[in-house]
Amino acid sequence: MREELLKNPVFSMAIEQFDRVADFLQLSPEIRERCKWPKRIITVTVPIRKDDGTTEVYFGHRVQHHLTRGPVKGGLRYHPDVDVGEVAALAMWMNWKCALLDLPFGGGKGGICCKPMEMSEGELERMTRRFTMEMIPFIGPEIDVMAPDMGTNEQTMAWITDTYSTHSGHLVPSIVTGKPLTLQGSAGRTRATGHGVAFLASNALKKLGVESAEATAIVQGFGNVGMHAAATMSSYGIKIIGVSDVSGALWNPEGIDIQKLMAYTGKHQTIENFPGAQSIPSGELLLRPCDILAPCAIGGVITKANAAAIKCKVLAEGANGPTTPEADRVIEERGDVFVIPDVLCNAGGVTVSYFEWVQNLQRFQWTEREVISKLETKLNAAFEQVTGFAMRNNIPMRMAAQAIAISTVAGAKKTRGLFP
Ligand code: GLU
Repeated sequence: MREELLKNPVFSMAIEQFDRVADFLQLSPEIRERCKWPKRIITVTVPIRKDDGTTEVYFGHRVQHHLTRGPVKGGLRYHPDVDVGEVAALAMWMNWKCALLDLPFGGGKGGICCKPMEMSEGELERMTRRFTMEMIPFIGPEIDVMAPDMGTNEQTMAWITDTYSTHSGHLVPSIVTGKPLTLQGSAGRTRATGHGVAFLASNALKKLGVESAEATAIVQGFGNVGMHAAATMSSYGIKIIGVSDVSGALWNPEGIDIQKLMAYTGKHQTIENFPGAQSIPSGELLLRPCDILAPCAIGGVITKANAAAIKCKVLAEGANGPTTPEADRVIEERGDVFVIPDVLCNAGGVTVSYFEWVQNLQRFQWTEREVISKLETKLNAAFEQVTGFAMRNNIPMRMAAQAIAISTVAGAKKTRGLFP
């Protein structure tokens, strides 16, 4: 299994980062091995009846990195690139993210290899419900709590809640987070990840002495993360000069009106042909000068081929794993980019997921104001902790964030001891 996982490029990227941090922390070989490998890897087949009457069998995975500090937490992804190695890497990153934010969770991630854009609503519903049934022996509010990720949304979470609750005989809202408000979702959850990206990027600007009103940003991806990151940044007075999605990239040096773009994508599903900006090749977008560059879409977009050419002061990683280890080394050598690593930068989502789970367990709803203020307090504390640790130890931000997280997990494992 080790070899099979390591064949996956995303998993080997997560392991390369882990090994570097484990060397820095001088973890004992025993604790190192226990922290490194996932506790449970579950693969199920998900047969569904398609609208045309044929049957299709999908492969679904859930990786529970470890349960040492609480239930595992993490998204469920529907995407054609999903495989067990990628899901295992994302589960490992969730693990560090939860530990860094001091949430009482381990990391988990799930995914089904499928093309959600080509499936009907009915097919997506049947696939989600069947996957939930197949997962029932392995999930629960104290075991594994899923949430939205690429290709899934609050409707997906509503189907999981309904399937699990029907099986239990009563409503179990704490089985997933990122639910609709009508099913006891949390106020502020939808915009939490993007809001956190913008909040931390503006914290970084302050550290660099750059005024928000004078700053510019480029956002790659206009899904749930990118859209809300852009909206919050523009509410801070930051000018959003470039935006992209799968259809292409938009450019306007005077600033793109994000509220108008959100209304446009609400109607057209894509940013293509938006009248308030000119279109440019997607590949160029990441290389244009700006203060904040926020990759908020897929992983592996900052590589050794373009790392030397990015021209930003702050790299705000809204996506999971957007920067490869080779690109990290180029950026470290340059020394002129303030990196807010993914496990910190996009942690707003899972932090509000934690608040949602707490509200569900207490059967009590908080206001959006309370949620956002608690979110900012937690993100700010983690940001200060990571920047302080990086500075004191003279190490890059990603290493600092992962070192804090991994030593928290290692400490918990050590204290619990090795059973039997
Ligand atoms: N999928 C999101 C992430 O990668 C959120 C996970 C959650 O809320 O559990 O952080």
